[in-house]
Amino acid sequence: MSAIKCVGILTSGGDAPGMNAAIRAVTRAAIFNGIAVKGIYRGYKGLITGEIVLFKTENVSNIIQHGGTILKTARCTEFKTPEGRKIAYDRLVAEGIEALVVIGGDGTLTGARILAQEFNYPIVGIPGTIDNDLYGTDITIGYDTALNTIMEAVDKIRDTATSHDRLFFVEVMGRDAGFLALNGAIASGAEAAIIPEIAVEKDQLAETIENGFRKSKNSSIVLVAESDVTGGAMGVAERVKKEYPQFDVRVTILGHLQRGGSPTAQDRILASRMGVAAIDALLEDQRNVMTGIQNDQIVYVPFSKAIKNDKPINRELLNTLRVLSI
Ligand code: ADP
Repeated sequence: MSAIKCVGILTSGGDAPGMNAAIRAVTRAAIFNGIAVKGIYRGYKGLITGEIVLFKTENVSNIIQHGGTILKTARCTEFKTPEGRKIAYDRLVAEGIEALVVIGGDGTLTGARILAQEFNYPIVGIPGTIDNDLYGTDITIGYDTALNTIMEAVDKIRDTATSHDRLFFVEVMGRDAGFLALNGAIASGAEAAIIPEIAVEKDQLAETIENGFRKSKNSSIVLVAESDVTGGAMGVAERVKKEYPQFDVRVTILGHLQRGGSPTAQDRILASRMGVAAIDALLEDQRNVMTGIQNDQIVYVPFSKAIKNDKPINRELLNTLRVLSI
């Protein structure tokens, strides 16, 4: 059995639906195992300034259904400095927090990895990001909810697109990853997806248009992943106006609405399983790992692997989209 008597929990970086379900699961699993829990507000910022509260099971009642994070989140540049991390570490020691569970994306886990290494301190990460861009886990918390939000938005855009004779470019988030754009396109019956993983290899816009993708249709929707590589929906639309002026082009940027909303059942279950698994990891003396899910089984992925590797896109999905968009 682990000797840890008190664990801290924080959410950091971009918020994602299901973070609250993860906070609830970590808190309850810790208390179930006789470990005290301290909630740290505003991510690494609150760790430095000492916004820390002892959590009971009631602190996490009635939150599983809410998007966002009750612990709030923040971006903290001070934590990127050795001096800032020393203050954070001293705060952990002063608070009697013997291990940390952090919920967030790539940046959050990078910060956790550095803190853990510098002070030989036990940390377990939980992947909370709508982008699904962390290596070693099939999905991340928030991704499924964001995908459903995109699908519902594109369904609505299609109503207006088909009423007119228009080509819509819909920009979705992804931070240089095409998961939301590609699967969002399949789920909403869009004609194509322009994603960074492929845009570096070939001119997807030219290929899509030259393949005559509008032959049998009077309206089309193309999902574009936000990224310098794709140019985003605005960049793509500008190009179409110049090179293919026959199209009546419109742009919709879904933006922050993709982050909000009540988490789907899948995200709540994933967050619940990962929260319990994070405490299990600490009980087993595992440290510096991220909880992941592969083939519906919980796995533990070293921070170094989760952060350093690019998660590959499943190329079979590209073919599925191509076949179905005729
Ligand atoms: P996300 O976790 O969603 O990827 P960010 O990239 O904004 O979000 O990272 C969240 C926070 O993690 C940052 O504000 C910072 O405090 C910390 N962080 C990110 N990168 C580093 C780094 N290289 N070193 C130390 N801390 C970092």
